[in-house]
Amino acid sequence: MKLYLVKEIFNGEERLYNQAIVTDEEMIIWTGDRNSDKIKMFIINETIDISDKFVMPGLIDCHVHIASLENKPESAIEWSKVTVDALENLKKLMSAGVVACRDLGSIEGVTIGISNAQKEGILTRLPKLISAGRALTATGGHGYNIGIECDGIDEFIKGTRFVIKEGADVVKVMMSGGVNSPGEEQGPPEVNQEEINATVLEAHARGRKVAVHSHGNTAIKRSVLAGVDSIEHGVFNSEDVMELMLEYGTSLVPTLSAPYYATVEGIRQQPDNPDHKKSKEVVKKHNKATLKAFSMGIPIAMGTDAGCPFNPHDRAFYELVLLHNIGIETADVLKIATQNGAVLLEQDQLGAIASGKEASFIALDRSPFEDFSAIERSKQVWIKGIKVL
Ligand SMILES: [Zn+2]
Repeated sequence: MKLYLVKEIFNGEERLYNQAIVTDEEMIIWTGDRNSDKIKMFIINETIDISDKFVMPGLIDCHVHIASLENKPESAIEWSKVTVDALENLKKLMSAGVVACRDLGSIEGVTIGISNAQKEGILTRLPKLISAGRALTATGGHGYNIGIECDGIDEFIKGTRFVIKEGADVVKVMMSGGVNSPGEEQGPPEVNQEEINATVLEAHARGRKVAVHSHGNTAIKRSVLAGVDSIEHGVFNSEDVMELMLEYGTSLVPTLSAPYYATVEGIRQQPDNPDHKKSKEVVKKHNKATLKAFSMGIPIAMGTDAGCPFNPHDRAFYELVLLHNIGIETADVLKIATQNGAVLLEQDQLGAIASGKEASFIALDRSPFEDFSAIERSKQVWIKGIKVL
């Protein structure tokens, strides 16, 4: 058994001082005051004195892409490189403090191979990966390079069954175009009501949640009415649709990083691309809609969309800074990035520091309650009781 002596903890709910954590193999078996007599009950083989550090559950990134390519590889050699790069991206996420993540669309569903490997007990010193595999999209729709093109109820049912047959842990649907796609409204709908209804029925019947890429209001509303589990992005969400989300218990994964990096890095690297300039306006609307959703009580989980253009895996922690910057308090941001993700991804063993939870946590040099930028600095990372960084 290992004993960790810690200055301050955020346990997934609240901030506590002068704490101790006792772990056995990969699990936490006790937490409490570091001066408690109860510690003597345990046979401690190793004491890890991090009594100058702040410890919190590892981050859960509910929206990443670790193998999202524009063009399909043409040989086995190129495919093997795709897998190696995907593993490297998982390592980068880990360096950002991520201990579990959900890939919402990969070329030919290749990340399912990595998730399957973890289910067999290998690659377990990397963040836990939950994979959608290929996304479902309309013909020519958003992200068709990482998706299966479906049209009509029958093809959406077939597509859902197909990705589940391939091993998808969750079903991803591209409900709308991108923020700059042409259409009557921004983020125009690309999938109709009957198609998403059929997809959700089929996925839920087979025990899979449904996550939808949705920017425009029409696409979000259709998704909520169909009973999807999470709206990803939700840039142009309006208050009446948010009311519906509350009623239906729909979660929101805002991915503030996506338009942020498109604006900051996009403009820097491609100053003449008009899409990046438009992103500035998108950022404003997105921030406003996200804060409104939070204040209304819609469950929010952290997601970065890392792996999309200009959006780096090794800076996943920056999503927390962006959530903090729009006015969400520190404790709530930390909860969004840990416990709320565990709930959405149905990973009960993660998202908290408590007896019975997995010993997957991170240590920071300073408390983010005193200086939020602590989250951006170097961190120590443990996954299943093993120090990986
Ligand atoms: Zn995405």
